[in-house]
Amino acid sequence: MDKQTSILILGAGTFGLSTAYHLAKAGYTNVTVLEKSPTFPPELSAGNDLNKILRAEYEDPFYAELALEAMAAWKSPLFAPYYHETGYLLCNSAAAPEKSKKSLQKSLESIRQHPAFRGKITAVNTREDIRKVAPAFTGPMQWKGYFNSFAGYAHAADALTAVYSACIALGVTIHLGSAVQALTYSGDTCTGAKTTSGKQYDAAVTVLALGASLGSVLPEIKTQVVAKGSPVAHIQLTAAEAAQLRGIPVTYARDLGFFFEPDPRTNLLKICPSMAGYTNCDTPSGLSLPPDDNAFIPARDEAMVRRLMRETLPALADRPLVGRRVCWCADTADSEYVIDFVPEKRGLVVVTGDSAHAFKMLPTVGGWVKDLVEKGQQDSARWRWKEGSDAARADISWRVGKTTDFKEVEAEMRRDPELIRAKL
Ligand SMILES: Cc1cc2nc3c(=O)[nH]c(=O)nc-3n(C[C@H](O)[C@H](O)[C@H](O)COP(=O)(O)OP(=O)(O)OC[C@H]3O[C@@H](n4cnc5c(N)ncnc54)[C@H](O)[C@@H]3O)c2cc1C
Repeated sequence: MDKQTSILILGAGTFGLSTAYHLAKAGYTNVTVLEKSPTFPPELSAGNDLNKILRAEYEDPFYAELALEAMAAWKSPLFAPYYHETGYLLCNSAAAPEKSKKSLQKSLESIRQHPAFRGKITAVNTREDIRKVAPAFTGPMQWKGYFNSFAGYAHAADALTAVYSACIALGVTIHLGSAVQALTYSGDTCTGAKTTSGKQYDAAVTVLALGASLGSVLPEIKTQVVAKGSPVAHIQLTAAEAAQLRGIPVTYARDLGFFFEPDPRTNLLKICPSMAGYTNCDTPSGLSLPPDDNAFIPARDEAMVRRLMRETLPALADRPLVGRRVCWCADTADSEYVIDFVPEKRGLVVVTGDSAHAFKMLPTVGGWVKDLVEKGQQDSARWRWKEGSDAARADISWRVGKTTDFKEVEAEMRRDPELIRAKL
């Protein structure tokens, strides 16, 4: 490939932006990105969030190494302002199912002996152990697990914005408000994409980075990836309350959920309940895809958020939940990414299957896509197109609970009248 090759990236979320950044940084001069959202960060991007966990422990040591590489990159000038190394408290409550305990144990194994974590991991067996790393927590917390001081969180929306600006500075063209309707072909060669407004964008290489919406443009993906929704909620703290929680570790009871240090700008405490993810299969194709309206969370998840607060910060357990929404990712059956050429098509690449663990790879994932495009084939079997695999039916080892379709929880939907996302 010469550096003038036209490259079209569809989607300006975590994967798409990182890809544009790495290509432009490597000297590619003809990179264009189409993004459906008229504003940035994109409303629909799973990465458009207050914060995301940055940690290297994984059930699979392969990803632990990749996460370590990414964490080193989070300390580079572009990303460092958005990385907060508050530590990571990973536990199970006394009532946690065996699956959740096993998953924690496997994750711990991936880093326990690793030289990068020497002196960074402390066992947690009692409430007092937790209060040593989070003195502000006053709940009963009969949890067991560990504290990892080499981890923390990223301010996600701000990090995306920084990469967006870096892409623009490097000469990438990004068209916001450009929803892709269909790919265009000449024979078996992909020639680019057409937007819903009818505009055609031609390119020698087209990279699909559409996150959970991939199936709407590439139905051939079938059930290799399945859109899964996870609820997110916030509690609005006062400045004084936020100050008391300044510096708390990212706190994750695997069977209850997780929360972060309050956002310094808005004093919002972000909380995600633990659950296996929702599908939304009531679509024309029958594939699970994100619905248009996501400003709510089902009542069962609200109950889980309150349980998590009662365990840790009981004074907040009955507060109103604001900014409630469902955030969509693309799960694969084995939580491996899919970064490959689409079989039997030329010039068409897919980067998907984030499986809800890819924001931390924002600084690095685009480099893997660039390498693939340059090499012309995927050498790693892990990241190849997974014809025939069924993510919809897979029992994913780290997900706690049972995947439920939105239809089953319709009666529980609680709409959020506050458009708090505008504030984030
Ligand atoms: C609740 C929640 C918590 C998470 N927590 C963490 C965490 O703590 N740590 C971590 O590492 N990861 C976390 N993740 C996962 C992480 O956010 C995702 O893995 C990552 O953002 C996926 O990137 P993506 O580029 O594949 O998708 P996205 O970021 O969703 O990007 C897809 C983009 O495609 C655009 N698009 C869609 N359709 C079209 C179209 N037709 N035309 C043009 N553009 C289109 C969308 O608007 C969007 O901008 C979490 C995810 C969720 C949902």
